[in-house]
Amino acid sequence: NHRIRLAARPHGEPVPDDFQHDVVEVPSPAPGQVLLRTRYVSLDPYVRGRMSDAKSYAAPMEVGDVIVGGTVSEVVESAADGFAPGDTVLSYGGWQEYSLEPADRLRRLDPSAAPVTTALGVLGMPGFTAYAGLLAIGKPQPGETVAVAAATGPVGSAVGQIARLHGARALGIAGGERKVAHLRELGFDAALDHRAPDLAGRLADAAPDGIDVYFENVGGAVWEAVLPLLNEFARVPVCGLAAHYNATSLPEGPDRSPQLMQSVLSKSLTLRGFIQREFVPTLFEDFLRDMTGWVASGQVQYTEDLTEGLDRAPEAFVGMLHGRNFGKTLVQVS
Ligand code: NDP
Repeated sequence: NHRIRLAARPHGEPVPDDFQHDVVEVPSPAPGQVLLRTRYVSLDPYVRGRMSDAKSYAAPMEVGDVIVGGTVSEVVESAADGFAPGDTVLSYGGWQEYSLEPADRLRRLDPSAAPVTTALGVLGMPGFTAYAGLLAIGKPQPGETVAVAAATGPVGSAVGQIARLHGARALGIAGGERKVAHLRELGFDAALDHRAPDLAGRLADAAPDGIDVYFENVGGAVWEAVLPLLNEFARVPVCGLAAHYNATSLPEGPDRSPQLMQSVLSKSLTLRGFIQREFVPTLFEDFLRDMTGWVASGQVQYTEDLTEGLDRAPEAFVGMLHGRNFGKTLVQVS
């Protein structure tokens, strides 16, 4: 069983020495367990947070742990009722070829209903994050402007497309011309490259009526450019801060939190952080029904960025944090 474990906690951007590859024997399932062979591993930005020991919403990994991640796997051997060799399941096996899971933590996938990889992207956790954060917190109304960055990623692309299905105007921000062109193909009403000069000026031009919902995925310079454009009563679902995940210190400069609070007060803004699992009990079924329909009808499109070979997972992971991915980042293991 080839595994990739956390060798050391990264300082800033993860480097190859932070990951350790090893090979151990394939384990056998105890009663109630299933032995799985990993087909695809999902690489997600939150895993960077779990490599650190800073307190967060999810417990950190320990040094020596297999790197965590959602997986699409195949049952190899089952010591549990309800699963048989050959079944395809959604699991949380992490960065390894084989894993043991208790049967009650698996979700069976139907490969004839949708490509199985969608369970890690548009029809899985990232798609659900977009759906729940946008609809429960952002509450886009017809004619309003919804802005989102990391807009070609699995969360951002779903946010923009769902916003349009609700009659709102979608403004997408992404890194590089190729991604911007893709946003236009997806039907975003406006698309901007955050790496080109004068983001603030171009954003103001692209949002002549201001911004009513800003779905926050990145923080940093994009947030600075968005804040002055927020309308009265704007909603900001705070989903992620990808621009800061590898930061080792606070940015320099004057403390601007008083200005932020002044805007929150004078424009009656709602900034509301969330972790998607909060909404699983209330919204997951609605999400699966709606999103499955939208994907089947082509109203929501998705892209996947597939890297072959588990040994390339660290490089794909670091690349994703820099925006070198194009769509949902996945590693094909077997
Ligand atoms: P993505 O595939 O979109 O990858 C992250 C993207 O962030 C990169 O591709 C890059 O896109 C962008 N990015 C990185 N640095 C910067 C920067 N300095 N400025 C602007 N953009 C930057 O990831 P996901 O769709 O999986 O996740 C999107 C966000 O949602 C993340 O912040 C993630 O942590 C968060 N999330 C939160 C959840 C929750 O429950 N709250 C659940 C799932 C995800 P580009 O090339 O366009 O710049």
